[in-house]
Amino acid sequence: MVRISWSAGHGLNTPGKRTPDGLREWEFNSAVVVEAIRLLEQYQDVLQLRLDDPTGQRDVPLQERSNRSNSWNADVHIDVHANAFGNGGWNAVQGIETFVYTTRPPRDVALATNVQKRLIANTRRPDRGVKAENFHMLRETRAVSILVECGFMTNQEEATLLKSEAYRKLCAQSIVEGLIETYNLKLKEEDFVLERAIVINSFADFPVAELLANFVKAPIYTRRVAQSGKVAKELLVVGGNAEGLLADRITLLAGRNRFETAARVQEFIG
Ligand SMILES: [Zn+2]
Repeated sequence: MVRISWSAGHGLNTPGKRTPDGLREWEFNSAVVVEAIRLLEQYQDVLQLRLDDPTGQRDVPLQERSNRSNSWNADVHIDVHANAFGNGGWNAVQGIETFVYTTRPPRDVALATNVQKRLIANTRRPDRGVKAENFHMLRETRAVSILVECGFMTNQEEATLLKSEAYRKLCAQSIVEGLIETYNLKLKEEDFVLERAIVINSFADFPVAELLANFVKAPIYTRRVAQSGKVAKELLVVGGNAEGLLADRITLLAGRNRFETAARVQEFIG
């Protein structure tokens, strides 16, 4: 099990944390966190916790965020941000960088390196590398902890990207790819469901159901088994009714008696 705490940096209304043309940094950070959590829900043995206020109204204090990550026993902490340079106007500084704590813990560097590599490969933004910084969320969390800066709000080209849904998804996807690689995460296995199956109501209908089975190349289930769960996406029901059966599509081949039912099946086979 990998326990991952996520923090979208700041809050919606945190002063200063915005592009010169008004995008709030938290809007970007939050969209990336939401998408990353959604993507990782498809993987086995992952538990996730979000530390910022999902409405953005409260800029949750850093101490509160790191305390929650620690008391929840996170194995991994990811802090998502967009960068800024200068005094709030546009400038040419650009690119993506990922931070670890100043002591450069090797496990943190390994994760940061994988995430940074995926971010650069996917976004093709300039690579500013993995760096060390004495940030609260890196210093005070006991988890393997990284902070990603996904582009500069003060760079006009990157500000445009930070506003786009596609770029946000790409950043989330990249962070998730780095996690998958580092922790060898595996997709959840979907329950096995057949494309098509035949259901018989009584063994009186078996001979004609067998003709149908040979024709459509699908197995025959008794009603009792078919009612125990979803056995196939499509059910061809020979005799009886469709009550209590689970499928995306049900074709009822039934008459008032087994001769009529047989006629319906013959008609279906053509
Ligand atoms: Zn930030």
